[in-house]
Amino acid sequence: MRSFQVRTCSEPLQCVETTTPQPQGTEVLLRVLAAGVCHSDLHIWDGFYDIGGGKRINLTDRGVTLPLTMGHENVGEVVAVGPDAEGVRIGDRRIAFPWMGCGTCAVCRREEEQLCPSPRFLGVFRAGGYSDHLLMPHPRYLVDYGDIPAEQAAPLACSGVTTYGALKKLGWDILEREAVVIVGAGGLGLMGLSILKAMKGRGAIALDIDARKREAAMQAGALAAIDPAAPDAQRQIVAAAGGALWAAVDLVGSSSTVQLCVNCLTKGGALIVVGLYGGEVTIPTPFLPLRALTLRGSYTGSLGELKELVALVGNSPLPYVPMRVRPLDEANSALADLKAGRVIGRQVLGPAER
Ligand SMILES: [Zn+2]
Ligand SMILES: [Zn+2]
Repeated sequence: MRSFQVRTCSEPLQCVETTTPQPQGTEVLLRVLAAGVCHSDLHIWDGFYDIGGGKRINLTDRGVTLPLTMGHENVGEVVAVGPDAEGVRIGDRRIAFPWMGCGTCAVCRREEEQLCPSPRFLGVFRAGGYSDHLLMPHPRYLVDYGDIPAEQAAPLACSGVTTYGALKKLGWDILEREAVVIVGAGGLGLMGLSILKAMKGRGAIALDIDARKREAAMQAGALAAIDPAAPDAQRQIVAAAGGALWAAVDLVGSSSTVQLCVNCLTKGGALIVVGLYGGEVTIPTPFLPLRALTLRGSYTGSLGELKELVALVGNSPLPYVPMRVRPLDEANSALADLKAGRVIGRQVLGPAER
């Protein structure tokens, strides 16, 4: 099989030919139909997260080993099954749930495998979908996506379930009644706008420093789109929220975006941080009780949440996420375009024949 691998951090991916694996035991082999190019792939490719103050977390210290085939937003067609793989047949088309844990610890038994201390995430800790084939350890991680087009279904595995998991943490009641700030109107932000609509939320105030992305957010149905770098950004945001901002999801996660959200929140408000841009914030500790603030992180979502999301989206594609399908051979240009901020919406790699 052909795969595009990180062999040295930040260097172009290399195309390698290896023997296509034969599934053993409960394993299932998929032919990749679509592999989303996610912003977090840029961090994996770089090999570190910026944690502020000039400090970094190196992913190789966190168990990432090279060479690595990236790609964690995958949809594929079953082409071979191990002798013990039940409930799945050749020809089935499935989303591959990427956030697999060890499967046996207390967190995994609670069905929060994305938080397992011994993760087996696709495209991070084991080979992902920047490839023509993908080996899954067990059919339980395969989610039927019905009639959703493959390129629309693939991003549900990360950008979809990540925004859905973050929005859910704000509470259905708040979503229904209040305008929510969504920081970042890239692929993840537009996905968030669409999912919020599918969740019957009141709507979102999109923040992005890029005017084209604010324009895309308005076209996707945002209530307002505001430049977070504007000197009066805080006043504009609170006004757009109707005088009090209750809820924000920060898909960027920089020092300035987290600080801006904290400054805007009303008493009892909540901020969910999802983005891994990096940085640090200083919050006077009395603010937490005096303003009854909730400051919470959210990391991807669970297998159960992916199934809920697929049911929520139904058989219709999310209408407001522009998709660009590119051949697998353009993996390097797709990453370069994403890094340079040239992408509106989402890019998906896939074979010419689907
Ligand atoms: Zn991702
Ligand atoms: Zn576990």
